[in-house]
Amino acid sequence: MTPPASAEIVGLGLTSDAGSRRGQGSRVSPSSSQVVRVPARSSQASQWAAGDIYFQQEHARQWLDEEFGEREAQQWQDRCYICAMAQRDDQHDLYSCRHASSQAAKQWMIQVRRKIRYARYIGCFKCGMPQTICHGWKGGGGDTTGCEFRRVLIPMVASMLYGPWGTAMQAAWQRRLQGVRVDSQDIEAVTKWLGQRSTHGHSQLFESFCWLRGVSQEVEGDI
Ligand SMILES: [Zn+2]
Ligand SMILES: [Zn+2]
Repeated sequence: MTPPASAEIVGLGLTSDAGSRRGQGSRVSPSSSQVVRVPARSSQASQWAAGDIYFQQEHARQWLDEEFGEREAQQWQDRCYICAMAQRDDQHDLYSCRHASSQAAKQWMIQVRRKIRYARYIGCFKCGMPQTICHGWKGGGGDTTGCEFRRVLIPMVASMLYGPWGTAMQAAWQRRLQGVRVDSQDIEAVTKWLGQRSTHGHSQLFESFCWLRGVSQEVEGDI
């Protein structure tokens, strides 16, 4: 049994005041991040003893993640995350970004995008989003019409991993991937894994995007 991904955020020590903010019951981050962390907040030992409750929460989380993921994907469509965080003009995608601080993310993105193959029936085969969100899979063949999120998930995962908080984000990511026995430095292994089906029936890419958004919002909330 895999614990809720968001539970891993707790205890990472990414942000020193995250706990105190929670304790006050008020959050600086957008409400969307709250949605994803609901199970994590109550992830005490008692939760694990109650299998049914765990299952229900996991089931609920799948849908919450889809809503969260869709909202976040829309928000970051055709926007450069690294430039947005640097408070520069961000109205371009990562591929078009000429800023030096974006080059590592761009290299990672290009390598992953070139090789990723999505498992069947887990989502849009062009962008990796759940089929309930992106209908590009209906187009078939090499047709890209209908796919709304083609340049969102991979660029965003790349930008969060190699962006302004890359060190902390990569440490968190490495821990998460260790749990599924994937070496985060082995880009071929990572790419292969990203195209696979998660326990929730999504692509690992979509779940990684949601998870990384949750982690990075913790850090973003501190600036
Ligand atoms: Zn940029
Ligand atoms: Zn799509």
